[in-house]
Amino acid sequence: MKVKFWGTRGSLPQTLNNGDVHAIVNELLAASEQQGIRTLRTFKIALEQGDFGVPISYGGNTSCTEVLHGTQSFFVDMGSGLREAGSFYMPKGVKEFHIFLTHMHWDHLIGLPFFIPIHVPGYTVKIYHVHRNAPEYVRIKFNGVNFPLTWEQIGGKIEFVQMKLYEPLKFGDVSVTPFVLDHPGGSFGYRFDAAGKSCAIGVDGEYKRTTATELAKDLPFYQNLDLLIFDAQYEIAELASRFDWGHCSPNIGVDLALRECIKTIVFTHHDPWANTAKLRRMLKQASTYMTNQFPAFKDRWAAAGQPNGPKLLTAWDSLIIDLDNP
Ligand SMILES: [Zn+2]
Ligand SMILES: [Zn+2]
Repeated sequence: MKVKFWGTRGSLPQTLNNGDVHAIVNELLAASEQQGIRTLRTFKIALEQGDFGVPISYGGNTSCTEVLHGTQSFFVDMGSGLREAGSFYMPKGVKEFHIFLTHMHWDHLIGLPFFIPIHVPGYTVKIYHVHRNAPEYVRIKFNGVNFPLTWEQIGGKIEFVQMKLYEPLKFGDVSVTPFVLDHPGGSFGYRFDAAGKSCAIGVDGEYKRTTATELAKDLPFYQNLDLLIFDAQYEIAELASRFDWGHCSPNIGVDLALRECIKTIVFTHHDPWANTAKLRRMLKQASTYMTNQFPAFKDRWAAAGQPNGPKLLTAWDSLIIDLDNP
């Protein structure tokens, strides 16, 4: 199983403006000087090796994550990252797409009108959802006013598939099961299981419930899990002032990962106000927090065969995680 991130920004796409590019270039030049790099060739090698830090930019597309198993591909959410996925797959001859929708906030829908397969006869896009009114709210985007085309003018086929909470759908040996996230208006995560590997997408979620008792029916979705994709929009110090906004912080994810032995946790749904430095700082804070908390969980991680505890990562647009070759 592999996971590819097409969009990792939350709430609103975030572009790199001229000043941001200058800042990146200046940062690279300063790092080159510090590392004693004198030629373009060694600069390129250092860049490719990630010697200046990875990534250089986290990207700015909103939520769109792809889960791949063998030749099968599944998307979760259709934020602006979906546009690029369409351009990537159309030349490869892919004619059918499966998209699981967590909820109907704009940042999770805005990519659909620009996903070219929906406009071309012969292509089918299946949208799986738990919210009963999802088809109505997806169609609203194509009213001829907010987007020039109406639903009837779309050339491809869009089908909706109503899912039942906690009930898996099977696609060959892949099963996909929705669970509940804490988010205004309701949001549903999806857990993918295939060939002994698993990945859960917990975005958008505030994680007001974190204890085993509070999570209740949702607890099993975090257990025996290889990868959790976690809503980490805010720094821990910001959380209190953003109560009920529906998003969480890396440290809360670390608590969950430590307790439930989640092998890798990936932070995503980055705040559009968070620059590269802040995202790097948040990962560092989470790593320090984990190091401090780890001794209490050491034995269970040793028993789980990963004696150093969970791997922590911050997602960026185009990051690929291969669970079969961790
Ligand atoms: Zn969102
Ligand atoms: Zn949301």
